[in-house]
Amino acid sequence: MKKQLFVPRPELSNIGVTIFTVMSKLAAECGAINLSQGFPDFQADPALFDAVHRHMLAGRNQYAPMAGMPELRQAIADKVEALYGTRFDVESEVTVTAGATQAIFTAIAAFVRPGDEVIVFEPVYDSYGPAVEMVGGTVVRSRLRFPDYAPDWEAVRRLVTAKTRMIIVNSPHNPAGSVLSAADLEALAAIVRGTGIVVLSDEVYEHIVFDGGKHESLAGHPELRERTLVVSSFGKTYHITGWKIGYVVGPRDLMAEFRKVHQFNVFTVHTPSQLALAECMQDASRHQGLAAFYQEKRDFFRRQLVGTPFELLPCRGTYFQLARYDAISDLPDRQFAEWMTREVGVAVIPVSAFYGDGRDDRVVRFCFAKKEETLAAAGERLRQRL
Ligand code: PMP
Ligand code: GLN
Repeated sequence: MKKQLFVPRPELSNIGVTIFTVMSKLAAECGAINLSQGFPDFQADPALFDAVHRHMLAGRNQYAPMAGMPELRQAIADKVEALYGTRFDVESEVTVTAGATQAIFTAIAAFVRPGDEVIVFEPVYDSYGPAVEMVGGTVVRSRLRFPDYAPDWEAVRRLVTAKTRMIIVNSPHNPAGSVLSAADLEALAAIVRGTGIVVLSDEVYEHIVFDGGKHESLAGHPELRERTLVVSSFGKTYHITGWKIGYVVGPRDLMAEFRKVHQFNVFTVHTPSQLALAECMQDASRHQGLAAFYQEKRDFFRRQLVGTPFELLPCRGTYFQLARYDAISDLPDRQFAEWMTREVGVAVIPVSAFYGDGRDDRVVRFCFAKKEETLAAAGERLRQRL
């Protein structure tokens, strides 16, 4: 037997391949319509590509400043102020990142010390837990109520200890499609008041809130914004998930710590793309129109599922639709998702992947960030084959 070259880190022993990679690969192998991993199958605005090209030809191809191009940081600060009423300082309180994933990892690495506890809400986006464990922290899980996926703040309060270093919230929520209300923010503020807890708020779907609802950004909350890093991602807003550009805003003292890690983690992000995004952001109608754009897709997709045995759960934001499948199968959700991909030809994400203990409510997640023809083709398969 080959002698093992290295001793694996115990923190990595439970980490498998992310469900998004697993399901997208299986979808490709089976020729299934891929409604699993969250990404648009339609083109972004070509004006963005022209702008990147123009900046490349103009020689803007060297390192951007560590915190990001000033033009882009300015546009981010302006947008956040216009939407949430808080002015973040362009020099010291806004940082451009290589997508939200890097922002989240970097924030966790900057604040979480070995032995610290980090409270997350399950079902939980799959990058948070491993990031906490990789830096020696402990993940403490608070379960969102099923099936409305609302936080139980009394339960959260009971989970807070002297070791709690961070609470990570995500609204609009992936995969649940639920959104935090102003009352939720008040409840969170009451829990962290007087503690040293830092809040990390993943708001990558900030512009995708439906039915006239309002996104309650922690950046707009007078108390919470003093202890919160808010993360967003251009991938979701401009249909460019492959560009991997996002940003963080937060108070100066938190951002200074964040940048200590950021500078040695990525240092800086693709310059011409940042310049193109700064131009794109000048037209606020792009992000302002996103909710209506996706609401139409949500409604179209939900209509496609009428006449199938799926029970659709509410979707108040994001581009994900959850559905219960009790009426179709007794299979555990991972097996059901695999069966759907192989036999029905529509790939989905099993929601148990977002629980530490694999809790299975027999729910799967569909991504509706797709062309109408893709959603219609998926609907046809689901109606005919289920
Ligand atoms: N957080 C959530 C809730 C997400 O859904 C995603 C990606 N879909 C990310 C973070 C990561 O964003 P990015 O692709 O910009 O790294
Ligand atoms: N966040 C996307 C989703 O929820 C996928 C991102 C990824 O593949 N890491 O589907």
